[in-house]
Amino acid sequence: MNENKDKRILQTCFHCGNKGMLDIKGEYETTWVDIDDCFDGFCRWLLVDCPVCKHASLIGMFTEPGMCDENGEQLFDEKILYPQTNMPTEGTPEAIKSALESAIKIKEIDTTTCVMALRRVLELICKEKGANGKTLESKLKNLVKNNILPSGFDSACAVIRLLGNSAAHADKVVFYNHEVDELISLLQNIVMYLYALPIKIGKLKEKLEKLNKGKNDEF
Ligand SMILES: [Zn+2]
Repeated sequence: MNENKDKRILQTCFHCGNKGMLDIKGEYETTWVDIDDCFDGFCRWLLVDCPVCKHASLIGMFTEPGMCDENGEQLFDEKILYPQTNMPTEGTPEAIKSALESAIKIKEIDTTTCVMALRRVLELICKEKGANGKTLESKLKNLVKNNILPSGFDSACAVIRLLGNSAAHADKVVFYNHEVDELISLLQNIVMYLYALPIKIGKLKEKLEKLNKGKNDEF
């Protein structure tokens, strides 16, 4: 945790994308124990305020037995619980993560530019996945055809692409914050599916294999 004594924490604000020291306005801790009264889990909740956009966020820091580094130091799983970010991290190529963060960052300043930036993330995904085609539309279709992108995401991509086109062509379209939030959420789910999910599933499979191995060793 990057927290200093004057009650601030280094975090990214997912309202505006600002990465910096956020003011801790309130904190609360909960601990739970198992039936033998042994430490079983701990959560620290932080209500923080962004000095740039003045919006509040809620951070949860969880830990439980066994969450330790190689030196036995307790590790914490830090999550932004509000606003809902669903920000994919693990496995996501830096260029895509950074383009998505930049799009979110610009939202508070200009929603139209944000929509254009979201469309650009789709272009980067197509490039990274080696999609064939001359236009973004044909590249996305190519990803679906090659089963890289499930067909269910086809219409989500089309919405982002077409609204991105409108934004780029100076159509007189007003993009409201809540609508742009929906587009961001759609894109985050696409990125999550393509990059972060395989890693999450891989880790759980590893655990399952270890459990199965342990069972076989018992017999
Ligand atoms: Zn902010």
